[in-house]
Amino acid sequence: MKSVKSKLFTWFVMIIFMILLFLSIVTIYFFNINQQISTDELLSSSLTEVEKYIRLKKPIEQIDQHINLKNQFLLILKQDKLIFSNQSTHNTEKILDKLDFYDDDFYEEHLERLEKQSKKGLSYADEYALKIFDDKNFKVFLGIDQDFFEHSLKNIYIAVVVLNFMIFIILTILGYLLINKTIKPLKLILKELENLQDKEDLSKRLKDIYTNDEFEKLVISFNKMLEKIENSVENIKQFSSNASHELRTPLTIIQGEIELLNFEKCTNEELKNAISKINTEQKKLQEIITTFLLLARLEKEDMSLQKCQLDTLLFELIEQNIEAVESKKLELKLEIEDELEIKFDKKYLKIVLENILSNAIKYTQNGFISIQAKKQNNNIELIVQDSGIGFKKDEYDKIFERFYRADYARSDAKKGLGLGLAITKEICKKFSCEIKVKSELKKGSVFRLSFRV
Ligand code: ADP
Repeated sequence: MKSVKSKLFTWFVMIIFMILLFLSIVTIYFFNINQQISTDELLSSSLTEVEKYIRLKKPIEQIDQHINLKNQFLLILKQDKLIFSNQSTHNTEKILDKLDFYDDDFYEEHLERLEKQSKKGLSYADEYALKIFDDKNFKVFLGIDQDFFEHSLKNIYIAVVVLNFMIFIILTILGYLLINKTIKPLKLILKELENLQDKEDLSKRLKDIYTNDEFEKLVISFNKMLEKIENSVENIKQFSSNASHELRTPLTIIQGEIELLNFEKCTNEELKNAISKINTEQKKLQEIITTFLLLARLEKEDMSLQKCQLDTLLFELIEQNIEAVESKKLELKLEIEDELEIKFDKKYLKIVLENILSNAIKYTQNGFISIQAKKQNNNIELIVQDSGIGFKKDEYDKIFERFYRADYARSDAKKGLGLGLAITKEICKKFSCEIKVKSELKKGSVFRLSFRV
């Protein structure tokens, strides 16, 4: 597998190489253009001076003493006869030969080309850049041997290439160091992760790093995720241990009763008692298992929203629980508006309402139970208040945990499983229903549910 470092480095080197190559080409191109322009300018100014010199009818042989012709060749012909050259005889012959001067067509062609180009334009013949001046008496060839420029251009090309190569090497080294430094935290994180894997201890965390960048965020998020995983694993462990405890108690009771029935001669009364106890415990077992299944289903099932009539359902449930309310002689205060339509699933809404209502009845020995349901802004609010045993402020969250039962409630004869509110919370979460609680020990509790319309 390729490392991030080598990938980044390869890309970096390739990009730097392309940029420098492009810059080299552009530089050389502009040097070339510049060279042509300066050649043109040099030849134009020299030619003007030559023209002036000839018009003033000064002695042609001394022309090179009055005009600076450095690096340029000047050939002057009078009636097609060479009368001046600033070059050696050999060079002069060579130039004339190269220019194919003795060919009339060539000469005409050059003149034509010169006219076609601007007056300042250059004409090129073989390796010469050339300006031609022609009047009735004289033909003047002023030019530069391009070899001379090519030589100096070659030096410039070499300088550009060497310079860019050095820049390339320096940037490559700097890039390598920079990438190395940037990637270093990632290597540390990977190493730590490998250590964590080896230890298989969920309480361990990655060491904080302070790079003030994505790596720092990565470590923070990863540690948060580990914390969540640790918590949920702990919850699962806790749940399994609670669940086995809850299942074991009724099973032990059932087993004890069965053993009694087997080994002792029991009276009818005792038999009835034993069967009734077994029946109660098996109902408990059934309830626990049904609740577990419901919780498991809640976790994976996608809920569909239906229109539910909250007021109708509330009245139905009140009717079902009225006996318990009356037997405790509790005052029932109802303030339920009509036509309270909410988006929920009827089956789950029933479970939520049943849990809240039955808790209010279960944990209230005297006083009142009040049920209010009304439209509030864009939601529908249900407030169930009782004057029962209540619970402490630090238990506001705990009562929604699985199997949590307050000690004082546990001592109550009708103690529950401690799963009702856990289920209620899960359902409310699924249906985006907000649930809030307030309570005071020995004074009573208020459960507020805010439903989506
Ligand atoms: P349980 O089956 O024990 O009622 P729940 O999950 O419904 O389980 O409730 C968890 C705990 O919250 C209860 O054991 C009780 O201590 C507390 N609780 C819930 N509702 C009330 C209430 N209306 N008044 C006082 N305590 C309550």
